[in-house]
Amino acid sequence: MQINLERMQRRLAALTTPALGGTPAGGMTRLALTDTDREARDLFITWLREERLEPRVDDFGNIYGRRAGTDPTLPPVFVGSHLDTVPGGGRFDGIVGVVAALEVASALNEAGTQTRHPLDIVNWTNEEGARFTPAMLASGAVTGVFAREWVYARTDRHGLTFGDELARIGYLGEEAARPSAIAASLELHIEQGPILEAGGESVGIVEGVVGIRWCTVTVCGQSAHAGPTPMAVRHDAMVAAARMIVAARDLARARGDINATVGNLIPEPGVINVIPPTVTFSLDLRGRIDATLEAVVAKDLRSRFDAIAREEGIAYELIVDWSVPPTPFASVIKDRAEALCRERGYTARRLWAGAGHDSQYLARVTQAAMIFTPTIGGLSHCETEDAPWPDIAKGTDIMLALAVELANG
Ligand SMILES: [Zn+2]
Repeated sequence: MQINLERMQRRLAALTTPALGGTPAGGMTRLALTDTDREARDLFITWLREERLEPRVDDFGNIYGRRAGTDPTLPPVFVGSHLDTVPGGGRFDGIVGVVAALEVASALNEAGTQTRHPLDIVNWTNEEGARFTPAMLASGAVTGVFAREWVYARTDRHGLTFGDELARIGYLGEEAARPSAIAASLELHIEQGPILEAGGESVGIVEGVVGIRWCTVTVCGQSAHAGPTPMAVRHDAMVAAARMIVAARDLARARGDINATVGNLIPEPGVINVIPPTVTFSLDLRGRIDATLEAVVAKDLRSRFDAIAREEGIAYELIVDWSVPPTPFASVIKDRAEALCRERGYTARRLWAGAGHDSQYLARVTQAAMIFTPTIGGLSHCETEDAPWPDIAKGTDIMLALAVELANG
Protein backbone atom coordinates (compact mmCIF):
# COMPACT_ATOMS: atom_id res chain seq x y z
CA MET A 1 0.00 0.00 0.00
CA GLN A 2 1.37 3.34 -0.95
CA ILE A 3 -0.05 6.83 -0.93
CA ASN A 4 0.27 8.89 -4.11
CA LEU A 5 1.42 12.41 -3.30
CA GLU A 6 0.90 13.66 -6.83
CA ARG A 7 -2.75 12.56 -6.74
CA MET A 8 -3.25 14.31 -3.41
CA GLN A 9 -1.79 17.55 -4.82
CA ARG A 10 -4.01 17.27 -7.88
CA ARG A 11 -7.12 16.76 -5.77
CA LEU A 12 -6.28 19.64 -3.44
CA ALA A 13 -5.70 21.90 -6.45
CA ALA A 14 -9.06 20.85 -7.93
CA LEU A 15 -10.82 21.62 -4.63
CA THR A 16 -9.31 25.11 -4.42
CA THR A 17 -9.94 26.57 -7.91
CA PRO A 18 -11.66 29.99 -8.19
CA ALA A 19 -14.98 28.30 -9.06
CA LEU A 20 -14.80 26.45 -5.75
CA GLY A 21 -13.85 29.47 -3.64
CA GLY A 22 -10.16 29.98 -4.42
CA THR A 23 -9.16 33.64 -3.98
CA PRO A 24 -6.76 35.67 -6.18
CA ALA A 25 -4.33 35.89 -3.26
CA GLY A 26 -4.07 32.09 -3.09
CA GLY A 27 -6.48 31.56 -0.21
CA MET A 28 -10.02 30.23 0.10
CA THR A 29 -13.46 31.62 0.83
CA ARG A 30 -15.91 28.70 0.94
CA LEU A 31 -18.49 29.21 3.62
CA ALA A 32 -20.70 26.29 4.56
CA LEU A 33 -23.80 25.62 2.41
CA THR A 34 -22.95 28.27 -0.20
CA ASP A 35 -22.81 27.58 -3.95
CA THR A 36 -19.04 27.04 -3.77
CA ASP A 37 -19.57 24.51 -0.98
CA ARG A 38 -22.04 22.69 -3.24
CA GLU A 39 -19.45 22.63 -6.05
CA ALA A 40 -16.80 21.19 -3.72
CA ARG A 41 -19.27 18.58 -2.41
CA ASP A 42 -20.21 17.58 -5.97
CA LEU A 43 -16.54 17.05 -6.83
CA PHE A 44 -15.99 15.05 -3.62
CA ILE A 45 -18.92 12.80 -4.52
CA THR A 46 -17.57 12.35 -8.07
CA TRP A 47 -14.32 11.07 -6.57
CA LEU A 48 -16.14 8.84 -4.10
CA ARG A 49 -17.99 7.22 -7.03
CA GLU A 50 -14.74 6.89 -9.05
CA GLU A 51 -13.21 5.05 -6.11
CA ARG A 52 -16.37 2.91 -5.73
CA LEU A 53 -17.05 4.40 -2.29
CA GLU A 54 -20.82 4.37 -2.03
CA PRO A 55 -21.85 7.92 -1.04
CA ARG A 56 -24.60 8.74 1.41
CA VAL A 57 -25.69 12.11 2.81
CA ASP A 58 -27.30 12.54 6.22
CA ASP A 59 -29.86 15.08 7.41
CA PHE A 60 -27.11 17.60 8.28
CA GLY A 61 -25.41 17.31 4.87
CA ASN A 62 -22.50 15.26 6.20
CA ILE A 63 -21.18 13.09 3.35
CA TYR A 64 -19.91 9.55 3.90
CA GLY A 65 -18.29 7.38 1.22
CA ARG A 66 -18.43 3.72 2.21
CA ARG A 67 -15.66 1.25 1.34
CA ALA A 68 -17.11 -2.13 2.23
CA GLY A 69 -15.39 -4.43 4.71
CA THR A 70 -15.36 -8.21 4.64
CA ASP A 71 -17.66 -8.41 7.67
CA PRO A 72 -20.81 -6.39 6.93
CA THR A 73 -21.97 -6.62 10.56
CA LEU A 74 -19.06 -4.48 11.84
CA PRO A 75 -19.26 -0.68 12.33
CA PRO A 76 -17.12 1.56 10.08
CA VAL A 77 -13.80 3.26 10.74
CA PHE A 78 -14.21 6.97 9.96
CA VAL A 79 -11.52 8.98 8.15
CA GLY A 80 -12.34 12.58 7.27
CA SER A 81 -12.31 16.33 7.84
CA HIS A 82 -14.12 19.36 6.38
CA LEU A 83 -14.35 21.19 3.04
CA ASP A 84 -15.72 24.51 4.36
CA THR A 85 -13.39 27.42 5.17
CA VAL A 86 -13.46 30.78 6.92
CA PRO A 87 -13.66 33.88 4.66
CA GLY A 88 -10.15 34.63 3.42
CA GLY A 89 -8.90 31.33 4.81
CA GLY A 90 -6.26 28.95 3.51
CA ARG A 91 -6.14 26.04 1.07
CA PHE A 92 -5.15 23.40 3.64
CA ASP A 93 -7.32 23.81 6.75
CA GLY A 94 -9.78 20.91 6.56
CA ILE A 95 -9.41 20.40 2.82
CA VAL A 96 -6.12 18.51 3.09
CA GLY A 97 -7.74 16.22 5.66
CA VAL A 98 -10.51 15.30 3.20
CA VAL A 99 -7.92 14.76 0.46
CA ALA A 100 -5.85 12.57 2.83
CA ALA A 101 -8.94 10.55 3.76
CA LEU A 102 -9.70 9.96 0.08
CA GLU A 103 -6.08 8.98 -0.45
CA VAL A 104 -6.40 6.27 2.23
CA ALA A 105 -9.25 4.73 0.21
CA SER A 106 -7.47 5.18 -3.12
CA ALA A 107 -4.30 3.51 -1.81
CA LEU A 108 -6.31 0.58 -0.43
CA ASN A 109 -8.16 0.24 -3.74
CA GLU A 110 -4.94 0.27 -5.75
CA ALA A 111 -3.40 -2.37 -3.52
CA GLY A 112 -6.58 -4.42 -3.55
CA THR A 113 -6.42 -4.53 0.25
CA GLN A 114 -9.51 -5.75 2.07
CA THR A 115 -10.34 -4.80 5.64
CA ARG A 116 -12.73 -6.45 8.10
CA HIS A 117 -14.50 -3.25 9.08
CA PRO A 118 -15.89 -0.93 6.42
CA LEU A 119 -14.22 2.45 5.98
CA ASP A 120 -16.21 5.71 5.70
CA ILE A 121 -14.51 8.70 4.03
CA VAL A 122 -16.23 11.73 5.55
CA ASN A 123 -16.82 15.43 4.89
CA TRP A 124 -18.35 17.21 7.92
CA THR A 125 -20.70 20.16 7.32
CA ASN A 126 -19.96 23.64 8.76
CA GLU A 127 -16.88 22.79 10.80
CA GLU A 128 -15.68 26.37 10.85
CA GLY A 129 -18.80 28.00 12.22
CA ALA A 130 -17.90 31.03 10.10
CA ARG A 131 -21.39 31.18 8.58
CA PHE A 132 -23.55 29.34 11.11
CA THR A 133 -22.40 29.41 14.74
CA PRO A 134 -21.28 27.47 16.61
CA ALA A 135 -18.41 25.63 14.94
CA MET A 136 -18.52 21.85 14.43
CA LEU A 137 -22.28 22.07 14.17
CA ALA A 138 -22.95 18.92 12.15
CA SER A 139 -20.47 16.59 13.85
CA GLY A 140 -21.96 17.83 17.11
CA ALA A 141 -25.44 17.05 15.82
CA VAL A 142 -24.70 13.42 14.92
CA THR A 143 -22.90 12.82 18.22
CA GLY A 144 -25.82 14.07 20.28
CA VAL A 145 -24.49 17.50 21.28
CA PHE A 146 -27.09 19.55 19.33
CA ALA A 147 -30.75 18.88 18.51
CA ARG A 148 -31.75 18.83 14.84
CA GLU A 149 -34.37 21.58 14.98
CA TRP A 150 -31.95 23.86 16.79
CA VAL A 151 -29.29 23.22 14.13
CA TYR A 152 -31.76 23.85 11.29
CA ALA A 153 -32.82 27.16 12.85
CA ARG A 154 -29.28 28.59 13.08
CA THR A 155 -29.12 31.73 10.95
CA ASP A 156 -26.30 33.42 9.07
CA ARG A 157 -25.87 37.21 9.16
CA HIS A 158 -28.40 37.62 6.34
CA GLY A 159 -31.06 35.72 8.28
CA LEU A 160 -30.84 32.59 6.09
CA THR A 161 -31.23 29.36 8.05
CA PHE A 162 -29.01 26.29 8.06
CA GLY A 163 -31.99 24.09 7.21
CA ASP A 164 -33.11 26.17 4.22
CA GLU A 165 -29.60 26.55 2.85
CA LEU A 166 -28.89 22.83 3.23
CA ALA A 167 -32.00 22.05 1.17
CA ARG A 168 -31.23 24.82 -1.36
CA ILE A 169 -27.83 23.37 -2.28
CA GLY A 170 -29.35 19.88 -2.55
CA TYR A 171 -27.58 18.29 0.39
CA LEU A 172 -30.45 17.64 2.77
CA GLY A 173 -30.10 13.88 3.12
CA GLU A 174 -31.59 11.11 5.21
CA GLU A 175 -31.46 10.64 8.95
CA ALA A 176 -30.84 6.96 8.20
CA ALA A 177 -27.45 7.89 6.67
CA ARG A 178 -26.15 9.03 10.06
CA PRO A 179 -23.68 6.67 11.73
CA SER A 180 -25.32 4.33 14.22
CA ALA A 181 -21.99 3.05 15.55
CA ILE A 182 -18.40 4.02 14.72
CA ALA A 183 -15.46 1.67 15.33
CA ALA A 184 -12.86 4.48 15.37
CA SER A 185 -12.28 7.91 13.85
CA LEU A 186 -9.17 9.48 12.30
CA GLU A 187 -8.52 13.01 11.04
CA LEU A 188 -5.45 14.56 9.46
CA HIS A 189 -5.19 18.35 9.81
CA ILE A 190 -2.54 21.02 9.57
CA GLU A 191 -1.33 22.12 12.99
CA GLN A 192 -2.28 25.78 12.45
CA GLY A 193 0.49 26.76 14.88
CA PRO A 194 4.29 26.95 14.96
CA ILE A 195 5.30 24.02 17.17
CA LEU A 196 6.07 21.24 14.64
CA GLU A 197 7.91 23.61 12.32
CA ALA A 198 10.02 24.98 15.16
CA GLY A 199 10.89 21.46 16.31
CA GLY A 200 11.61 20.24 12.79
CA GLU A 201 9.07 17.40 13.23
CA SER A 202 7.05 15.99 10.32
CA VAL A 203 4.16 14.44 12.23
CA GLY A 204 2.16 15.68 15.20
CA ILE A 205 0.36 13.11 17.32
CA VAL A 206 -2.45 15.08 18.88
CA GLU A 207 -2.85 14.44 22.61
CA GLY A 208 -6.30 15.97 22.57
CA VAL A 209 -8.13 19.26 22.23
CA VAL A 210 -7.69 21.83 24.99
CA GLY A 211 -10.54 22.86 27.26
CA ILE A 212 -12.03 26.35 26.97
CA ARG A 213 -13.56 28.95 29.24
CA TRP A 214 -15.20 31.97 27.62
CA CYS A 215 -15.71 34.77 30.13
CA THR A 216 -17.18 38.25 30.07
CA VAL A 217 -15.66 40.80 32.43
CA THR A 218 -17.59 44.00 33.16
CA VAL A 219 -15.69 46.79 34.91
CA CYS A 220 -17.64 49.64 36.54
CA GLY A 221 -15.98 52.91 37.57
CA GLN A 222 -17.05 56.56 37.83
CA SER A 223 -17.83 58.58 34.73
CA ALA A 224 -16.34 62.09 34.73
CA HIS A 225 -15.04 64.82 32.45
CA ALA A 226 -11.56 64.23 30.97
CA GLY A 227 -10.56 67.85 31.59
CA PRO A 228 -11.48 69.00 35.10
CA THR A 229 -11.03 65.62 36.86
CA PRO A 230 -7.55 65.33 38.44
CA MET A 231 -5.73 62.08 37.77
CA ALA A 232 -5.46 61.22 41.46
CA VAL A 233 -9.21 61.04 42.11
CA ARG A 234 -10.34 59.02 39.11
CA HIS A 235 -12.08 55.63 39.14
CA ASP A 236 -11.31 54.84 35.52
CA ALA A 237 -12.88 51.62 34.23
CA MET A 238 -10.66 51.66 31.13
CA VAL A 239 -7.44 51.79 33.12
CA ALA A 240 -8.67 49.00 35.40
CA ALA A 241 -9.67 46.88 32.39
CA ALA A 242 -6.26 47.48 30.79
CA ARG A 243 -4.50 46.36 33.97
CA MET A 244 -6.72 43.25 34.16
CA ILE A 245 -5.92 42.33 30.55
CA VAL A 246 -2.19 42.62 31.22
CA ALA A 247 -2.61 40.67 34.48
CA ALA A 248 -4.34 37.81 32.59
CA ARG A 249 -1.54 37.77 30.01
CA ASP A 250 1.16 37.79 32.71
CA LEU A 251 -0.55 35.00 34.65
CA ALA A 252 -0.77 32.80 31.52
CA ARG A 253 2.87 33.49 30.67
CA ALA A 254 4.06 32.75 34.17
CA ARG A 255 2.10 29.47 34.38
CA GLY A 256 3.00 28.25 30.88
CA ASP A 257 0.08 25.80 30.76
CA ILE A 258 -2.78 28.09 29.68
CA ASN A 259 -3.48 30.64 26.96
CA ALA A 260 -5.36 33.83 27.79
CA THR A 261 -6.72 36.11 25.06
CA VAL A 262 -8.81 39.28 25.12
CA GLY A 263 -10.31 39.73 21.67
CA ASN A 264 -13.13 42.14 22.37
CA LEU A 265 -13.32 45.30 24.47
CA ILE A 266 -16.22 47.74 24.62
CA PRO A 267 -16.03 51.03 26.53
CA GLU A 268 -19.24 52.94 27.34
CA PRO A 269 -20.03 55.51 26.15
CA GLY A 270 -16.89 55.38 23.99
CA VAL A 271 -16.32 59.11 23.81
CA ILE A 272 -12.89 60.77 23.67
CA ASN A 273 -13.38 63.28 26.50
CA VAL A 274 -15.31 61.07 28.94
CA ILE A 275 -13.67 58.81 31.53
CA PRO A 276 -15.61 55.63 30.75
CA PRO A 277 -17.83 54.40 33.59
CA THR A 278 -18.15 50.91 32.10
CA VAL A 279 -15.82 48.69 30.09
CA THR A 280 -16.71 45.16 29.06
CA PHE A 281 -14.14 42.73 27.69
CA SER A 282 -14.06 39.10 26.61
CA LEU A 283 -11.58 36.59 27.99
CA ASP A 284 -10.78 33.32 26.21
CA LEU A 285 -8.88 30.82 28.40
CA ARG A 286 -7.56 27.49 27.12
CA GLY A 287 -5.70 24.68 28.82
CA ARG A 288 -5.11 20.93 28.91
CA ILE A 289 -6.41 20.30 32.43
CA ASP A 290 -9.93 21.24 33.42
CA ALA A 291 -9.05 21.69 37.09
CA THR A 292 -6.38 24.22 36.06
CA LEU A 293 -8.88 26.27 34.10
CA GLU A 294 -11.31 26.05 37.01
CA ALA A 295 -8.68 27.24 39.50
CA VAL A 296 -7.42 30.02 37.22
CA VAL A 297 -10.90 31.48 36.89
CA ALA A 298 -12.03 30.94 40.49
CA LYS A 299 -8.81 31.88 42.31
CA ASP A 300 -5.78 33.17 40.38
CA LEU A 301 -7.56 35.65 38.13
CA ARG A 302 -10.02 36.75 40.80
CA SER A 303 -7.31 37.53 43.33
CA ARG A 304 -5.43 39.62 40.77
CA PHE A 305 -8.58 41.37 39.56
CA ASP A 306 -9.68 41.99 43.18
CA ALA A 307 -6.38 43.72 43.91
CA ILE A 308 -6.69 45.89 40.79
CA ALA A 309 -10.30 46.74 41.72
CA ARG A 310 -9.20 47.88 45.19
CA GLU A 311 -6.33 49.99 43.83
CA GLU A 312 -8.45 51.62 41.13
CA GLY A 313 -11.57 52.00 43.29
CA ILE A 314 -13.82 50.21 40.82
CA ALA A 315 -16.15 47.21 40.89
CA TYR A 316 -16.11 44.33 38.45
CA GLU A 317 -18.01 41.18 37.54
CA LEU A 318 -16.54 38.07 35.89
CA ILE A 319 -19.03 35.66 34.30
CA VAL A 320 -18.17 32.33 32.65
CA ASP A 321 -20.40 32.16 29.54
CA TRP A 322 -19.18 28.91 28.00
CA SER A 323 -17.19 26.04 29.36
CA VAL A 324 -15.77 23.04 27.49
CA PRO A 325 -13.59 20.43 29.19
CA PRO A 326 -10.42 19.21 27.45
CA THR A 327 -10.91 16.19 25.14
CA PRO A 328 -8.07 13.68 25.28
CA PHE A 329 -7.81 11.39 22.24
CA ALA A 330 -7.58 7.57 22.34
CA SER A 331 -4.30 6.47 23.95
CA VAL A 332 -4.11 3.21 22.00
CA ILE A 333 -4.21 5.06 18.68
CA LYS A 334 -1.74 7.72 19.83
CA ASP A 335 0.69 5.02 20.99
CA ARG A 336 0.37 3.12 17.70
CA ALA A 337 0.90 6.34 15.72
CA GLU A 338 4.07 7.00 17.67
CA ALA A 339 5.35 3.46 17.07
CA LEU A 340 4.55 3.68 13.34
CA CYS A 341 6.48 6.95 13.08
CA ARG A 342 9.45 5.33 14.82
CA GLU A 343 9.35 2.32 12.46
CA ARG A 344 9.29 4.55 9.41
CA GLY A 345 11.89 6.99 10.69
CA TYR A 346 9.48 9.93 10.70
CA THR A 347 10.22 12.64 13.25
CA ALA A 348 7.17 13.08 15.46
CA ARG A 349 6.00 14.89 18.56
CA ARG A 350 2.94 14.80 20.75
CA LEU A 351 1.11 18.09 21.11
CA TRP A 352 -2.27 19.51 22.13
CA ALA A 353 -4.69 21.07 19.67
CA GLY A 354 -5.49 24.63 20.67
CA ALA A 355 -8.41 24.96 18.24
CA GLY A 356 -11.61 22.95 18.02
CA HIS A 357 -12.04 20.08 15.54
CA ASP A 358 -14.87 17.70 14.60
CA SER A 359 -12.80 14.89 16.13
CA GLN A 360 -13.45 16.23 19.61
CA TYR A 361 -17.16 15.49 19.22
CA LEU A 362 -16.41 12.12 17.64
CA ALA A 363 -14.33 11.33 20.75
CA ARG A 364 -17.61 11.36 22.70
CA VAL A 365 -18.88 8.30 20.81
CA THR A 366 -15.80 6.38 19.64
CA GLN A 367 -12.01 6.07 19.91
CA ALA A 368 -10.83 9.13 17.99
CA ALA A 369 -7.43 10.53 17.08
CA MET A 370 -5.84 13.26 14.98
CA ILE A 371 -2.59 13.58 13.06
CA PHE A 372 -1.15 17.07 12.60
CA THR A 373 1.28 18.15 9.90
CA PRO A 374 3.40 21.33 10.04
CA THR A 375 2.11 24.75 9.02
CA ILE A 376 4.57 27.16 7.43
CA GLY A 377 5.17 30.05 9.80
CA GLY A 378 2.38 28.67 11.98
CA LEU A 379 -0.08 30.80 9.98
CA SER A 380 -3.64 29.59 9.41
CA HIS A 381 -7.11 31.07 8.78
CA CYS A 382 -5.39 33.44 6.36
CA GLU A 383 -4.78 33.41 2.62
CA THR A 384 -1.03 32.82 2.99
CA GLU A 385 -1.66 29.54 4.86
CA ASP A 386 0.74 26.92 3.49
CA ALA A 387 1.98 23.47 4.45
CA PRO A 388 4.94 21.32 3.32
CA TRP A 389 3.77 18.41 1.14
CA PRO A 390 6.52 15.94 2.14
CA ASP A 391 5.21 16.12 5.72
CA ILE A 392 1.59 15.79 4.54
CA ALA A 393 2.67 12.61 2.71
CA LYS A 394 4.20 11.22 5.91
CA GLY A 395 1.15 12.11 7.97
CA THR A 396 -1.16 10.50 5.41
CA ASP A 397 1.04 7.40 5.34
CA ILE A 398 0.67 7.08 9.13
CA MET A 399 -3.09 7.59 8.86
CA LEU A 400 -3.33 4.91 6.19
CA ALA A 401 -1.48 2.43 8.41
CA LEU A 402 -3.67 3.32 11.41
CA ALA A 403 -6.85 3.02 9.34
CA VAL A 404 -5.88 -0.48 8.16
CA GLU A 405 -4.99 -1.61 11.68
CA LEU A 406 -8.20 -0.23 13.16
CA ALA A 407 -10.30 -1.64 10.33
CA ASN A 408 -8.80 -5.09 10.88
CA GLY A 409 -9.10 -4.93 14.67
ZN1 LIG B 1 -10.11 22.84 10.19
